[in-house]
Amino acid sequence: MPRSPDPLPRSSDPLSRVLLHLRESTSTLLEHVPESAAGAVLPAGPVPPQHRWTVGSGRPRPLVLDPARYRTETATPRHPFRFTPPSLFNPEGDPPRALAELDRWSAPFDLVLTPTGLLTCDKAGIQALMEAVRLVEDVRTHRLVLAVPLGPGWLTATGAQVLAALLDSVRIPKALVLDAEHSPVDSVERLRALRCVVTESPDTAVLGPGLAALDALAHGASFVSFDETTTAVDAKPYPGEPFPPASPVRPGILHRRLLTYLAGPTATVHLEGLGRCCCEPCLRWGEERGHGQVGRPYSVLGQEGSAEAAHAHNLAVVSDVARELTRGLPDVSEAEKRGRWWRLCFEAVRAHDWHNGAADPALPPLDPPEELLFWAGYPER
Ligand SMILES: [Zn+2]
Repeated sequence: MPRSPDPLPRSSDPLSRVLLHLRESTSTLLEHVPESAAGAVLPAGPVPPQHRWTVGSGRPRPLVLDPARYRTETATPRHPFRFTPPSLFNPEGDPPRALAELDRWSAPFDLVLTPTGLLTCDKAGIQALMEAVRLVEDVRTHRLVLAVPLGPGWLTATGAQVLAALLDSVRIPKALVLDAEHSPVDSVERLRALRCVVTESPDTAVLGPGLAALDALAHGASFVSFDETTTAVDAKPYPGEPFPPASPVRPGILHRRLLTYLAGPTATVHLEGLGRCCCEPCLRWGEERGHGQVGRPYSVLGQEGSAEAAHAHNLAVVSDVARELTRGLPDVSEAEKRGRWWRLCFEAVRAHDWHNGAADPALPPLDPPEELLFWAGYPER
């Protein structure tokens, strides 16, 4: 009889949180996560010395370890997981033992993602996922999360049904890993598919996308992470603007009321009329300068020389929205959470209209992005 996994005493820590999803190239962003923001997904490898205090201390922030094998390896039916070379304790490289080792030796991380390779959307990818599900079945675990990194093609109505069916029997937490290169969530069809998977597969996290992570959080995802590199690559051009943007490593500026990333020339000419931000880093910016006005103008944020200042602002805004969505959990119904998200998006679409009505008519309009219209229930617009 298969052993049943231990309960997951700490897996509720990241609930209702937005985690910052770091890559090696963005690991210094951890310093800029506002106090009220909520933790990080760290890439495997040595923790940079300046962050050891966060990792080793009392940790108000939950931390997740991501071996991120999906960035370099593809999952196969024989080897869905890509472990580091076998250790002395596991010379045969037996996958269940290697998974148990990962779980046992990964303190002080709260959760550890499996080293799953990228899952292609074909027969081999389906078989690889089935094998991954089989391998995690009997692992006794406190921290392990089955990472499901999706290659292109999964986020369709059919792909979502297949995923929901395959993940149904998994007893440990699961995490869909989405990134801009392999599985952008950039169309209504993909947004709908993502909703379908998180709604039908309880205890599934969504890691990596931009604001689609918040939609997932409102529709049942157990926790989400936010990859600012993804949002930098994903920022949509307005009509007539070049794509991809000239410097995709630079993030757009997330506007709290518009719930939209402002990037590119059209957004830039509107920044002046978009008021001031009062997120935590922007409030601090205002206090340090003592101009007598609260917060930081969006036009100043748009001219910031440092990309990290924009990242810190964006993360604070996303965390703020996530807190609003999950306020009062667990005593909040799923319907109430969805309703809160819908209202935020509906107000954001109206804020676009108000802004365009008040802006200089000579400027090109700042139209709401397609995904915001979908979340606000305006698919026909
Ligand atoms: Zn701000």
